[in-house]
Amino acid sequence: MTDMTPLEASLESDLHQLSLAFSARLEHELPVLVNNAIYLLDASDLDAQITRLSALQYQLHKLAGAAGTFGMSELGDFARDLDLQASGWLDNPGSIDSTLIDFIVKVQRLEGFKRKSHYGERCITTDLETRRIPSLSPKIFILESEGNLGRSLQLTLSNFGYDVNRVDNAPALDAQIALSMPDVLIYDLTVDPLQGMHHAAAIKREVLKHTPLLVITADDEFDTLLDVVRIGATGYLKKPVDVARLENCLERCLAHPLTNPYRVLIVDDDEDLAKRYNMVLCNAGMTVEVLSKPSLLLDLMHQFKPEVVLMDLSMPDCSGPELAQIIRFHDDWLRVPIIYLSAETNLTRQMRALLKAGDDFITKPIADNALITAVFARAQRARMLGNALSRDSLTGLLKHADIKERVALEAERASRNSQPVAVVMIDIDNFKAVNDRYGHSAGDKVIRALANLLRQRLRKVDILGRYGGEEFLAVLPGCSPEDALKTLDEIRQSFAELRFFAQDAEFSVTLSGGISNNDGSYSPIELQEKADQALYAAKHGGRNQIRMAYAHA
Ligand code: GH3
Ligand code: MG
Ligand code: MG
Repeated sequence: MTDMTPLEASLESDLHQLSLAFSARLEHELPVLVNNAIYLLDASDLDAQITRLSALQYQLHKLAGAAGTFGMSELGDFARDLDLQASGWLDNPGSIDSTLIDFIVKVQRLEGFKRKSHYGERCITTDLETRRIPSLSPKIFILESEGNLGRSLQLTLSNFGYDVNRVDNAPALDAQIALSMPDVLIYDLTVDPLQGMHHAAAIKREVLKHTPLLVITADDEFDTLLDVVRIGATGYLKKPVDVARLENCLERCLAHPLTNPYRVLIVDDDEDLAKRYNMVLCNAGMTVEVLSKPSLLLDLMHQFKPEVVLMDLSMPDCSGPELAQIIRFHDDWLRVPIIYLSAETNLTRQMRALLKAGDDFITKPIADNALITAVFARAQRARMLGNALSRDSLTGLLKHADIKERVALEAERASRNSQPVAVVMIDIDNFKAVNDRYGHSAGDKVIRALANLLRQRLRKVDILGRYGGEEFLAVLPGCSPEDALKTLDEIRQSFAELRFFAQDAEFSVTLSGGISNNDGSYSPIELQEKADQALYAAKHGGRNQIRMAYAHA
């Protein structure tokens, strides 16, 4: 244990404290449990006996889960057997027989268990620790020998705020990596169709073990994708490269869970156990909230917006599946995985819980490592899914509801901090005519071209979305009205200069835009309405122009 990192050492010491607290709790709890068992014998009738047995079974169940988790696996196993025996009787009270005495004797033996715990398990996986946290302008290395594609990638990604370094052959890439490490490597496998795969695999295996690798491929046949997986790439882009997809891939690669930790909600009535899970997950870099009062569930879901819920199965006031069903009533939370964490080993009961709501079952006790991995994997997937669902498939931009929410958030933040903010609404001119004349797919190309242009010209802090068909909405935090107008007018000009080709014809398209800003004390909704009115004025003023909303109109 001499090679522990400070993080691991502090986790170990915290875990030790918790284990000591648990042992102290047993000193008090075990005698109570034994008393409750003896108490079964002087129940006046079967109903009274069942009530008492059911209380005892609940205590045994909790003990089975907690003891194993705190490293007292023998005690845990023993309590689990008793728990199962008691549940069997409760399911079929007619079967309570003379073996009840044996049962009580066994419960008494619980007290004899050595209060010794072992907690020395290493619990941080190296993979979570050693990945680099990308800097503000992440460093991207690109191997691309095709001049046009290379230049366009370099230009676009630089505009997106990445620090881009491009080389056009394998030895130059090796030399570059020997000098400094990238945050992401983009490797065009078609540069050298024979050796590319081996070279990329070697770099990934030997030098960039924890750095995401994106590859560019000529096709997306099964065999190619299998190779891509085997060399350890995080993603692939088929030629011709879709820049919108590339940018989303990059964002995903760089969304490091340590800069934006996963949020985990623990629902468990056993405070010590909840504390322990809390600490284990916090030490692995996650943000944790513990819910001890079920009635506060909805408030906490709204405020904390967990990405994973860890749910105890049996609690005194209401059950885990009941709480899970309440969560599932809300469309907003359908993406949040709910994992039951319970001492329940009966498969039928596990399945019954899963059928009600919930996504998975983890049986207590669970080793720290396994808990971290299980939660981490689900949180990662939930976040990826959330990102993918909020993106529009044609442009890769935020969808209607998400961009509206972001505009409201940024507008509120700006007014709280007395900062300027601009809201921009853009609409393509006479777009219906483009579709009618050149076809719908030509229209789609125009929409994508505008989306890419906006991405390139807006700053990294600006937030952009596709509001509707050919309408875009953006919020520019910290941007003065003058700067917003200047930027948008440049974008308008560039867009008008773009040439499109379809059905043997060349054509160009224009756009109109409206801008509002928070000079007045406008609500986020008013800001968006003002931008919309300004857009309307631009359309009526003859299109191909940007208008400012009148500040205090
Ligand atoms: P205006 O200058 O007043 O904005 O005129 P317009 O023709 O652009 O306005 P209108 O809103 O009447 O037409 C928008 C058209 O955009 C209608 C719809 O068929 C088309 N559209 C919406 N979404 C898409 C899309 O995803 N792809 C394509 N190709 N067309 C779309
Ligand atoms: Mg239009
Ligand atoms: Mg429109």
